[in-house]
Amino acid sequence: MTQQSKAGAVIRGTGVVAGLAYGPARWVIRPDAPAPGAAAGPAGDAADAGAVPPDEQQVEAGRERFVAAARTVAGRLDQRAALATGVSAEVLSANAVLARDRGWAKAVVKELRKGAAVEAATVAATETFAAMFARVGGRQAERVTDLRDICARVVAELRGLPEPGIPDLDEPGVLMADDLAPADTAALDPAMVLAIVCEHGGPTSHTAIIARQLGIPCMVAAGGLAAVADGTQVLVDAAAGTVTVEPEEGSARAAAEADRRTRAVAADWSGPAVLADGHPIRLLANVQDGAGAEDAASGPAGGIGLFRTELAFLDRASEPTHDEQVDLYARVLGAFPDTRVVTRTLDAGSDKPLAFAGMTEEDNPALGVRGIRVDLIDRGLLDRQLDALAAAGHRVGGAQSSPWVMAPMVATVDEARDFADRCRRRGLTPGIMVEVPSVAVAVDRFLPHVDFLSIGTNDLTQYVMAADRMSSDLASLTDPWQPAVLRLIRAVADAAGRAPDGRAIPVGVCGEAAADPNLACVLLGLGVGSLSVATAALPFVGAALAGVTLEQCRRLAELALDSDTALDARNAVLAARN
Ligand code: PEP
Ligand code: MG
Repeated sequence: MTQQSKAGAVIRGTGVVAGLAYGPARWVIRPDAPAPGAAAGPAGDAADAGAVPPDEQQVEAGRERFVAAARTVAGRLDQRAALATGVSAEVLSANAVLARDRGWAKAVVKELRKGAAVEAATVAATETFAAMFARVGGRQAERVTDLRDICARVVAELRGLPEPGIPDLDEPGVLMADDLAPADTAALDPAMVLAIVCEHGGPTSHTAIIARQLGIPCMVAAGGLAAVADGTQVLVDAAAGTVTVEPEEGSARAAAEADRRTRAVAADWSGPAVLADGHPIRLLANVQDGAGAEDAASGPAGGIGLFRTELAFLDRASEPTHDEQVDLYARVLGAFPDTRVVTRTLDAGSDKPLAFAGMTEEDNPALGVRGIRVDLIDRGLLDRQLDALAAAGHRVGGAQSSPWVMAPMVATVDEARDFADRCRRRGLTPGIMVEVPSVAVAVDRFLPHVDFLSIGTNDLTQYVMAADRMSSDLASLTDPWQPAVLRLIRAVADAAGRAPDGRAIPVGVCGEAAADPNLACVLLGLGVGSLSVATAALPFVGAALAGVTLEQCRRLAELALDSDTALDARNAVLAARN
């Protein structure tokens, strides 16, 4: 049995639509579908598993029942599509087409011939397609949720049960699910659904797309969500990617109210990013694939500050080929042909294991072979990635003919020098991430070797505070408002502004800190030149920046630096801004 979360526990996930909500958790109802190959279902099933193989008449009877149920489900999906608009309508119509798919009916017949009952045959046929979709990976894999949802609806129909789906909400609540089906999401009422949190799902899943369209704060990949009991009060902060279980009520309500006001302002912001004194700001997007880059390019992003290449390959058993890599990188670079796109080389290891990187199990993976350290196992992996990036830059041309590339987890000057040499030999523009404290402390020694720096506050905070970023119990330590972290950021920005060789080295922040609108103001005040955030967080940060001058940002930074704790720093800045 799942152990239930304690009050104050924090569950982390990926925010896909920024926003904050406080309310009771409400779980989606999912019927248990029968396992493939299960014994015969309710009376009326023609076949009986394990007995004499069914004759053609029995198979035909099963097929007819399946086709009738699937048609009914498809009809309902069509009806909902007719009532919906935009992406919701498209998704529902696409699912109706899937429900009528002849290939699916054929696969069901194949299972019926083996002697399976019609419900079990439906599930087994679905799982065959689901495995196929998962093998293809990417967007196709995300359609597995759609397939299983349609299957669950057809099985319910075969059993004479009501369709599964979202519970009847008698008061506004936070909808929780292992993964939401598009048919559920499309029918959501934004007045009753304060936020959506899924244990699984990806940033490009239909849940995310539709939640964005409906303007409902949404988080996916929230591991451990099952421990939150239905009815428990939760505070969802999708920009921070956190769900806090039973938070202190007064501050949770105040935070939700403040967020409602902020969202109204953000909804009106469409860029470009400029401070109240007219100072332009490079506000960039964090992406993980071509679709994400194109999505960012269709909005107010001024470029890409972090392309996490490892996330594009998490499902790959073997190293992607040169051509596959070139295609992917060229698509991302091509989304912003005229401006800055920063690609990060594979940050394999720790919470992002890549099957093909050859890493072995470690006791302390966050302190182990990770990021640039994969060189210790196989230098070829990075060399091949740099080759592909250079080729992609040539293919796109123009501003992208010398792509900006940075290495994660650099800790020593030797690593930085070696990385930069390998980049320059290929015509790439080299930079490094500042996420290991050794770089921040001795940054002047690194500057002569690189063309830019990008501060990864997620890891920098983890390593400065000696607190695992994955631990929900340590969330108050892994808070980028920690004054010690802010001091290091200032030191890096100061040093980069006066590099030993007279160059001013651009410094950005691409960790989650930049997505907190108040902290974003502080970061600019500390001397950081660009901010890179999830696309969903861009309007929130952009709207906040439009309300402050650079001078005010500097004063806010002083207030934060002058604090003893992360909480004091945050409160001091909040009080000064309100
Ligand atoms: C960071 O550490 O802040 C960062 C941007 O990298 P990642 O979150 O991918 O480790
Ligand atoms: Mg990092």
